[in-house]
Amino acid sequence: MTTGVTRREFLGSMAALAMSPLEQEKPELILHNGNIWTVNAAEPRAQAVAIARGRFLAVGSNSDVLNLAVSGVQKIDLGGKTVLPGFIDAHSHPSEAGRLHLRMVDCDLRSIQAIQAALRERAAKTPAGEWVLGFKYDDTKTEENRALTMADLDGAVPDHPVRIQHRGGHTSYANSLAFQKAGMDEKTPDPPGGQISHDPATGKLSGRVAESANNYFNKVIPLNFTREDCREGVKLISKMLARSGITSATEAQGVPEDLRAYQDAHEAGELLYRAYCFINYHFLDHMLEAGVRTGLGDEWVRVGAVKLVCDGSISERTARLSVPYEGRPNDYGILVMTEEEMYTQGRKAHLAGWQIGTHANGDVGIDTTLRVYERLQHESPRRDPRFRLEHCTVVNDELIARMKALGAIPTPFSTYVYYHGEKMRYYGADRLNHMFALRSFIDAGIRPTQASDYPPGPFEPMMALESEVTRTDSKGNVWGPKQRITIEEAIRVGTLHGAYASYEENIKGSLEAGKLADLVVLGRDPLRENPSTLITVPIERTMVGGRWSFEA
Ligand SMILES: [Zn+2]
Repeated sequence: MTTGVTRREFLGSMAALAMSPLEQEKPELILHNGNIWTVNAAEPRAQAVAIARGRFLAVGSNSDVLNLAVSGVQKIDLGGKTVLPGFIDAHSHPSEAGRLHLRMVDCDLRSIQAIQAALRERAAKTPAGEWVLGFKYDDTKTEENRALTMADLDGAVPDHPVRIQHRGGHTSYANSLAFQKAGMDEKTPDPPGGQISHDPATGKLSGRVAESANNYFNKVIPLNFTREDCREGVKLISKMLARSGITSATEAQGVPEDLRAYQDAHEAGELLYRAYCFINYHFLDHMLEAGVRTGLGDEWVRVGAVKLVCDGSISERTARLSVPYEGRPNDYGILVMTEEEMYTQGRKAHLAGWQIGTHANGDVGIDTTLRVYERLQHESPRRDPRFRLEHCTVVNDELIARMKALGAIPTPFSTYVYYHGEKMRYYGADRLNHMFALRSFIDAGIRPTQASDYPPGPFEPMMALESEVTRTDSKGNVWGPKQRITIEEAIRVGTLHGAYASYEENIKGSLEAGKLADLVVLGRDPLRENPSTLITVPIERTMVGGRWSFEA
């Protein structure tokens, strides 16, 4: 609503609009003099857009669109700046990440010193004895080239228990007081499926624990988020996504609290991206009882697919592979759910009209998941189930042909090659040409999406574009060059394909009359940019539903 218009006048004008269809054609806002890439194959380029009630009324040349101007319309001269549809992150954990950002120190920093400084700052604001928590730490990313130690953490924060989680989520690092509070000392044996690390020289605790040993900390750290906290988390992450040009995101492992947090934040005017909220399969029965299924909601908050999990992770090297990891001849990774379990849960969802999204990284995981989908579709065919393979990392020609036959949608990690380059050698050069396989998917006529999996992967769409176009990591190493795609393809993957993955290609993903007015204004044109500097293209403004969600 424009400022200065009272609620009564606004409602009055709504009534008038409802009565007169002609009135609805008046634009409220015109953006002109732009270098606009629409991602609409019928009209790829434009100079101007007209917007009313959160949607595009027209997309075209300056003269055509400016001709629609009426008195009172706001006009913005884009000064030749590049405009793209807003980016769609098709697999991420934003609501969950927002809660962690509220409570924890972001340890995605380039030196141990910088991490120590950030922890010290947080400790100064935290009553003595209370936990100082961190996340997004990555031992391969600090300039000291070694892992955090207990001494580092004790040195920075002696009077608070400190626990820092690794970005991958399977290991953590803590100080002396934290180990004391968790009831662990030098003599504590490793729990089943876990490890408490010791300094090999002295035998003293190193500060690091892995896998199930994390439970010692989880049991004593109070992380009870209130309903308010959950809403605040969405508000916080909203601003972070808006700043990077994202206008829609999938909550890939949502629970009922996430759905509620999205509704709360939207009602409070704090939700700045459109959320497609997956539901973890543990809640499927509740949802079925309530008559809820995929698609319920509106263009801001919508129930997404039910989420199943087949195998392990890429960054932590537990994805299930047919050929073992490089240098680890007996290690094939792990399967998390059995095929029968996936079928049982999947069948309930499929029959009730849900979309299914299954976490499947390794080629064995993908083969298993496809077998479940093929069986469901064979037994109970549905017209347009849009089965999703979340991550779908390691593929081969046979798997791709089956995906194409099913119409399945892969959501490969978009920023991993650039950001997690140092983990790629565990997969080997050969296999990398079959990982994050955008070239193969597109050539087969499959519609892959842009997907960050944030927090494990960074969500910045410009990093995704550079990673996908160059297949080069931040240190200049090339991984799987056969899977390079063009910048035009990468933009389509990050916009229209994301809309298709949530059944929303008719309302978003490209700049077309009638679609939602979601767009991003860039400081430079990515189509003219050197691919190796795409990540530096500035995001100047982001618009969702005709309103700026971010302005630099
Ligand atoms: Zn995920």
